[in-house]
Amino acid sequence: MVVNEKVKLAITVASLVAVTVLLAAEYRRRRRKPTSSPSSCYLHSETKPQFGFKRVLADNSYSGFKHLKKKKLEDGEKPSNSHPYESEITALLENPRLDEFEFLRGDYSLEMSGSYVWVETESELKKLAETLAKEKVFAVDTEQHSLRSFLGFTALIQISTQEEDFLVDTIALHDVMSILRPVFSNPDICKVFHGADNDVIWLQRDFHIYVVNMFDTAKACEVLAKPQRSLAYLLESVCGVSTNKLLQREDWRQRPLSEEMVRYARTDAHYLLYIADSMTAELRQLGTDSSSTDDKFSFLLEASRRSNMTCLQLYTKETEDFPGNAAASSLIYRHLNGHEDNSTISLDPPKFQELVRELCAWRDLMARIHDESTRYVLSDQAVIALASNQPTTPEEIHDSISQADSSSESAVISSHLDDVHQLTQHKLGKLDVILPLVLDKCLGTEGTCPISVFNYSLLINFNTKLTTNRSTPKRHKSLKRFTRKTSRDLFVKKFSCKAPVYHNCRIYANDGRLLCYCDRRKLEWYMSRGLAKLVEEDPLAIMLLFEPKGRPEDEGNDFYIQSKKNICVGCGEGDHYLRYRIIPSCYRVHFPEHLKSHRSHDIVLLCVDCHEVAHAAAERYKKEVAKEFGIPLFVRRVLDSVECESSAGGDSEDAGVSPLHLRTAAMALLRHGNRMPSSRREELLQTVKMYYGGRDITEEDLEKALLIGMSPHERRKLERKKGVSLKQENSSNDADANSFEEAPPGGDTNGESSVVGDDSGGDGAPELNDTQCKGNILHQQNSKLSLLGHGPHGKQVVEYLLNEYGEDGVRDFCQRWRKVFVDALHPRHLPGGWDVTHSGRRDFGEFSVYNPTKKVSTG
Ligand code: AMP
Ligand code: ZN
Ligand code: MN
Repeated sequence: MVVNEKVKLAITVASLVAVTVLLAAEYRRRRRKPTSSPSSCYLHSETKPQFGFKRVLADNSYSGFKHLKKKKLEDGEKPSNSHPYESEITALLENPRLDEFEFLRGDYSLEMSGSYVWVETESELKKLAETLAKEKVFAVDTEQHSLRSFLGFTALIQISTQEEDFLVDTIALHDVMSILRPVFSNPDICKVFHGADNDVIWLQRDFHIYVVNMFDTAKACEVLAKPQRSLAYLLESVCGVSTNKLLQREDWRQRPLSEEMVRYARTDAHYLLYIADSMTAELRQLGTDSSSTDDKFSFLLEASRRSNMTCLQLYTKETEDFPGNAAASSLIYRHLNGHEDNSTISLDPPKFQELVRELCAWRDLMARIHDESTRYVLSDQAVIALASNQPTTPEEIHDSISQADSSSESAVISSHLDDVHQLTQHKLGKLDVILPLVLDKCLGTEGTCPISVFNYSLLINFNTKLTTNRSTPKRHKSLKRFTRKTSRDLFVKKFSCKAPVYHNCRIYANDGRLLCYCDRRKLEWYMSRGLAKLVEEDPLAIMLLFEPKGRPEDEGNDFYIQSKKNICVGCGEGDHYLRYRIIPSCYRVHFPEHLKSHRSHDIVLLCVDCHEVAHAAAERYKKEVAKEFGIPLFVRRVLDSVECESSAGGDSEDAGVSPLHLRTAAMALLRHGNRMPSSRREELLQTVKMYYGGRDITEEDLEKALLIGMSPHERRKLERKKGVSLKQENSSNDADANSFEEAPPGGDTNGESSVVGDDSGGDGAPELNDTQCKGNILHQQNSKLSLLGHGPHGKQVVEYLLNEYGEDGVRDFCQRWRKVFVDALHPRHLPGGWDVTHSGRRDFGEFSVYNPTKKVSTG
């Protein structure tokens, strides 16, 4: 009893101790948590007005701005990014039409009436466009918002006719503002602005609106040599109206606008027609007063010329040789100069400068990702403070920023404090390492921040077009490396295998001899049908209960009885790999079934870099094949014999279109044809027309074009999706892949299936089709269909080989591709037994889907 009590007590004490220890550990864990938990982005709980925009013309990527294309390029014409209305504006410069325009007619009351028109729906905007189309002149001003946006956006357009003031809500109407394009580019309507330099390029940037025919009252001020050129001055001196220009800095995203803001906004446009009228009178007067009548100088013409010159400006996105570099350089310069005569400058100038550059680069990228201005993310003063103080704790970071900056710390900083912390601690490494890291952390597959129309192409745009001319080529190189690395990392993440491809499960014959290595699913297939018994659990192995015909080693097929490593066969990289087909699918899908069975020999694992090399070599070799066999990679539907003859001698590539382009164009037209800009639609139609020999296209043609070059499997997939039967013309023998429902799993995407000895990728190992390779990959991932191959080319080549040389021709062909692969990559890690001359001659067992007798019985 006593002993029993003692035991009880001991247990109780022990339990208490244990609980206390656990609680203490938990307590410590919880205390640590707040400072080390990963940040969640503020944008998940804050929405900004511009996130309602469906499209933006100028996004936050590093790539350049594309101007409106007015018409399709003529043959041989080079694509340009020039001003779409250059000739119209030049015509106005050469033949000014100012005399045609009267800014005021009839009765005019200068007073601003009590009412104005608020335009916020598409139909209201259309009505406004109709109204303006009837005017000879109207006045315009715009307000933009810039603090909480990377490039800034137009938040309001004020338009005044002699009768009415319109306030256009360009946030609500952002996606349909093109409705106003025609009236702005109409040379028969004169647009009056004051100081239009910014307005002109903002309208281009946000709406592809281009102003043709303008009278700028600020230019008139210049020509008249007025003492001041501001609108406030003109309002005061010409109209006797005062305005509070401080309102210019209001947040113009606000809705509804305050009464004061409405009055300010209307005032900026309302009086312009009156001011223009009075100034043109002055300009004319000055012309007649002037004694120099002989040199034909007209002040009015000069004002008009200067105004229209403004319209020739083009919006461009600012580019720099490295993100944030310009800001960093100027900050460092200003800081060092400002401190010239005292010694309180940071103790470690090189470190200070490095940190300024890192912070500026980080701030630039974060601003782009979140669509914020850089100054909102982190002010210049805060950058200097952080780089000088080099704070070590989050608290010190907060302190540095709040002391430097009068406005409070931005949401970007508070929700991404870890980054700043790591930057100031120099934990993120060199500059060109930091940016890809940050981009991936924010927008990668497990990114913390929302993807938007502003940052989407920042993420996917691999071809950063930054100017090389300025500054050091070294920095440009590192930026190139940055974008290359980013693209590579994202590519790897998206497409490399998530689990080992080779399970290295074994299959034994019933006499105990090893038949092959394969993946788990194949074992399960045999097991579930009672065709095999389990002989080992770890690693898995089964023994077949039937007699397989032939043994690999008797036939020189040692390859199949080698276990395979989950590494890149090219360089040995083990962290990521993709499946790579040595024999391109566009040919292989057309091979006779029993020759396809050797996929495991000709599908290898490659890392992204080796994949790229091998793929490029294969693409080059395809062109050689095309030339050698006279079977073009590009497709064209021959309409009649005349065309057939005329194109026979020409360059085969020029005569057609790549099936990929054809199908992408057809798909886009079918999906979005009626919604896309007419210029884009026309461009896509041309692509499809090229296939149909230039004739007009019907919807049915588009549907047919979708199928060009599609494998039978892909076609079936599409049919299933659409619930219809899409018969491709001259598709004779595409029923071939239908009869293998009973095949073991592990089949690939082309309707093939596997048998014993056919060790294909397990676990859905990713693989890229012919068009998914770098550069193309991110455009492809949006489309539901994979766009495979070169259409008829592959099929025709294989048919030719079979006709001329029989199956030996196909085997030779495979050897050529293996040689192309080996020559391109010099792979050092190919599995034992892998061989360029791999025969592919194998017998098939009773249960194999490739067994000819079986084929007859199921067919
Ligand atoms: P305004 O037509 O003069 O009202 O100016 C048009 C837009 O330019 C305003 O909505 C502001 O976004 C911007 N802006 C012009 N001047 C300034 C300034 N001094 N500070 C901040 N923003 C300005
Ligand atoms: Zn974020
Ligand atoms: Mn204004």
